[in-house]
Amino acid sequence: CNILAIESSCDETSASVISDGKILNNIVATQSVHEKYGGVVPELASRAHQQHLIPVVAEAIKSSGIAKSELDAIAFTRGPGLMGALLVGVSFAKSFAYALDKPIIEVNHMEAHVLAHFIDAPKPSFPFICLTVSGGHTQLVLVKSALSMEVLGETKDDAVGEAFDKISKILGLPYPGGPYLDKLAAKGNPLAYPFPVSEMKGLSFSFSGIKTAVLYFLKENIKKDPNFIENNLEDICASVQHTLIKMLMQKLVKATKEQGIKEVAIAGGVSANSGLRQTIADAAKKYRWNVYLPKLEYCTDNAAMVAMAAHFKYQEGLFTDLNVSPLAKLKIGNHG
Ligand code: ATP
Ligand code: MG
Ligand code: FE
Repeated sequence: CNILAIESSCDETSASVISDGKILNNIVATQSVHEKYGGVVPELASRAHQQHLIPVVAEAIKSSGIAKSELDAIAFTRGPGLMGALLVGVSFAKSFAYALDKPIIEVNHMEAHVLAHFIDAPKPSFPFICLTVSGGHTQLVLVKSALSMEVLGETKDDAVGEAFDKISKILGLPYPGGPYLDKLAAKGNPLAYPFPVSEMKGLSFSFSGIKTAVLYFLKENIKKDPNFIENNLEDICASVQHTLIKMLMQKLVKATKEQGIKEVAIAGGVSANSGLRQTIADAAKKYRWNVYLPKLEYCTDNAAMVAMAAHFKYQEGLFTDLNVSPLAKLKIGNHG
């Protein structure tokens, strides 16, 4: 079967075609309009999706070599995400499917991040635990099958990607700061400055405290040395990253022990972080895990992961009614 998938939940406009479970392409238009604001501006994201979506879809269909009439379904991200951004993708997918008289398949964006692991080998076997770390979420997910997932624990406040980005902003780095902080951290001493690790019950996370801790730490030090940030940027980045990874790893290890599972994956934008990838690879040896790290192209938002998720639903005949509308806070495990 051939499926066209659309992703428009945040600031990436993307389309992908999947044929019999094989991804043929993954066209992504990243919106640069948000850089000067240091964060995604929802209204501008919706407008940029309107501009990019048709060219991105046209490119995906053209480069797939599959005619529009040969598509078997149109898939789209229903949520979670920015309402205005989702509306553009959902409305387009519905109209396109209506015009072609094809069925539609809704996809949960966070499930798609997890299912990105089934695009290429090696693929995890069920059940596995996925640490999904992105700009809006930090979740420990028990993946029982492609269509059955359960959130074991998640953040009670900021997402870890948000912590990366907000601390980067304080440090004067460009937006989104995660990748910049990652590069600088690689050259610094991770133990230079001990930042506090949040103590949360069970498998919950908290990432709002470290942002404030870093802010006050910098204010104190700038009093003594006005150029404190410039003079110590690499060590500050390395220490921040080290602390964030430590908080993620504590809960990941706890979850694998509680569940007795040694199949471990990471997903979402922050899974591109080189420090986290290295730490997970080291933990694999220590705890005898089989670990799965997504290709960089499938870490941040993309339609290939949406296409993969739709492929699993297509096989089970899970189609969506044309009167569907987006859900900004769509939860994992909600398969209407
Ligand atoms: P969600 O998936 O929760 O709806 P989102 O779609 O905005 O949120 P993604 O696109 O999956 O999130 O990820 C974006 C986040 O990933 C940003 O916070 C960005 O800083 C972070 N990120 C990307 N690369 C890196 C990196 N190398 N190190 C740390 N963070 C990174
Ligand atoms: Mg993004
Ligand atoms: Fe995402």
